[in-house]
Amino acid sequence: MTAAIIDGKAFAAGVRGRVAEQVGRLQADHGITPGLAVVLVGEDPASQVYVRSKGKQTVEVGMKSVEHRLDADTSEADLLALVQELNADPTIHGILVQLPLPDHLNEDLVINAIDPAKDVDGFHISNVGLLGTGQKSMVPCTPLGCLMMLREHHGSLSGLDAVVVGRSNIVGKPMAQLLLGDSCTVTIAHSRTKDLPEVVRRADIVVAAVGRPRMVPGDWIKPGATVIDVGINRVDAGEGKTRLVGDVDFDSAVEVAGAITPVPGGVGPMTIACLLANTLTACCRANGLPEPEGLTA
Ligand code: NDP
Repeated sequence: MTAAIIDGKAFAAGVRGRVAEQVGRLQADHGITPGLAVVLVGEDPASQVYVRSKGKQTVEVGMKSVEHRLDADTSEADLLALVQELNADPTIHGILVQLPLPDHLNEDLVINAIDPAKDVDGFHISNVGLLGTGQKSMVPCTPLGCLMMLREHHGSLSGLDAVVVGRSNIVGKPMAQLLLGDSCTVTIAHSRTKDLPEVVRRADIVVAAVGRPRMVPGDWIKPGATVIDVGINRVDAGEGKTRLVGDVDFDSAVEVAGAITPVPGGVGPMTIACLLANTLTACCRANGLPEPEGLTA
């Protein structure tokens, strides 16, 4: 069997298209433009690339994009004051503080200072609690993107066995909550899991969010299973070059799985698309308007 390839790039373009369409309608019918503020502290090169890309895509879907670039030695008090200013700004519906922050800043304190209604990353403790209790929340972008692709591929996920490898707060745990919310039977695996290959072999859905290049080989995959590879790992490609690979060994897994996301071009593009979807959702909620269909959990 050769797996169907789940094209995250095309799917993300579709999500952005739907967001753009609804932004246009919000402007035409209500005179409202959703606004996203991104705060970057310091000069981390990867973060700079992400922030640039977020700003560009925000503008492309017709939203207002605001970027605050602060020096690496910005004090916690100054950063918190900026967050409060953005919380109070009615033209800003989504606030994202790019992580990681420099060591002298307390990430939890800063994230929990964001108004939960504007927390488009879904990392605020209130949103984590709401998601965990099955209530309406802002959902972390990467797991939301994975869920959208799984729903698109399977229709209903009800009753399927799902294994999430990785238990981080930003991917593994919220992913497991979302799959549970869609009535999967969910196992969360991690570095202390006994007999990981056997655990993965039971799954109809495998979500790998580990950060270890090609760790999950094809012979761990149940034939026909759907494999969502969240990992982004840069590896040596010889001749002084590097390339990106996932946490799944694509070449062997594609021969066994029913469907699989590639790296790059799978989960990655969905993350920013879901950030835009979350900003639109936050804007609709702030204005008492119906939420965009198919763009929330
Ligand atoms: P973390 O490092 O925070 O978490 C990794 C998880 O993997 C931990 O729970 C850890 O277990 C588990 N783990 C590590 N080694 C093993 C092992 N040998 N066997 C089983 N489990 C193991 O990573 P993130 O969740 O932040 O990210 C995971 C991957 O996803 C990374 O490659 C990252 O780059 C990528 N990513 C991609 C995004 C995208 O947009 N596509 C967005 C965010 C992340 P334990 O808790 O026991 O240590």
